[in-house]
Amino acid sequence: MTSVNAKPILSIVAPCYNEEESVSEFVRRAAAAARACAGSNFEIVLVDDGSKDGTWNLIESLSLVVPQIVGVRLLRNYGHQMAATAGLTTASGERVLLIDADLQDPPELVSDMMAVMDQGADVVYGRRIRRNGETWFKRMTAAAFYRMLSQLASVQIPQDTGDFRLMNRRITDILVAMPEQHRFIRGMVSWIGGRQVALDYERDARFAGVTKYPFLKMVRFAVDALTSFSTAPLRISTYVGMGTAMVALVMLVYSLFRWVSGATIEGWASLMVALTFFSAIQLIALGVIGEYLGRMVQQGKGRPSFIIDHVMRRETALGEGIVAPKKKTSTAARTRSKAY
Ligand code: UDP
Ligand code: MG
Repeated sequence: MTSVNAKPILSIVAPCYNEEESVSEFVRRAAAAARACAGSNFEIVLVDDGSKDGTWNLIESLSLVVPQIVGVRLLRNYGHQMAATAGLTTASGERVLLIDADLQDPPELVSDMMAVMDQGADVVYGRRIRRNGETWFKRMTAAAFYRMLSQLASVQIPQDTGDFRLMNRRITDILVAMPEQHRFIRGMVSWIGGRQVALDYERDARFAGVTKYPFLKMVRFAVDALTSFSTAPLRISTYVGMGTAMVALVMLVYSLFRWVSGATIEGWASLMVALTFFSAIQLIALGVIGEYLGRMVQQGKGRPSFIIDHVMRRETALGEGIVAPKKKTSTAARTRSKAY
């Protein structure tokens, strides 16, 4: 029997935000998939990203049935990428699978991913050949976003991939040690390099509930991705500035001509157009610069990216099966408030 201190062969990390309807089914399928390739020597790290529903209670009670569960509770909602990072810092397995808890990505794919990794890959990432159950709008914006990102990003980030991926310990350690605060995990993993192999799969509809990525969160995610991996927007504003300077020159010549011919008062309309046009361009350029500056200020503060309230781990040996709980606290080893 493996002791709890031995490194698990596989860690499955899943961020959960208000996922009480999906978590049980997720644990059932993830545990079965993990068992198929790691026996009982695995762990399932469930990160509760400040859920407002019964997700945490469910994680606690599920851990009584599945001793491989490690529950990580964050102090508030820090967002998907932070919750995933919190899970990665906690995971101790030799290989780590990052997956959403809503069962859009099939946990069963892990055995194929493990097989590809056995051939020497450092990262095996899922590539979505089809996305079921997502709105036309979501698919369109996602496709446009990935294409734009691949044009602008300073590293090649594979298209149509999410964070669903298996990483080896080395890549996981490097990823966790990267100090940036605005984290775009799939980009950061691409940046690290090594042998990264795609595995095609069909993305299912959510098992239950609705997306936790409403439109504004999606926009913020896209801005994070772009500004973390490209300085092209800064350059674009310079180009746009140069372009409009040309237009301004033409306008100047035109205005002088009008002035000389004594018809200046008529220029009010064109003046207003030019004024609003240039003001808009300037504000956009300032906004872009501000976006990068804001990131520097945040990074400069050096605040932790998230705070772990506590980690709940069964003290029983892995693979011992179901152990009846005595008291709630006796079944869990708790580490309080850790900042990262
Ligand atoms: N999630 C999270 N924190 C958040 C938003 C989402 O931990 O603030 C989790 C969520 O529970 C899910 C995963 O991140 O397991 C992906 O979110 P979702 O399925 O809502 O995104 P979508 O698949 O619609 O892009
Ligand atoms: Mg989802």
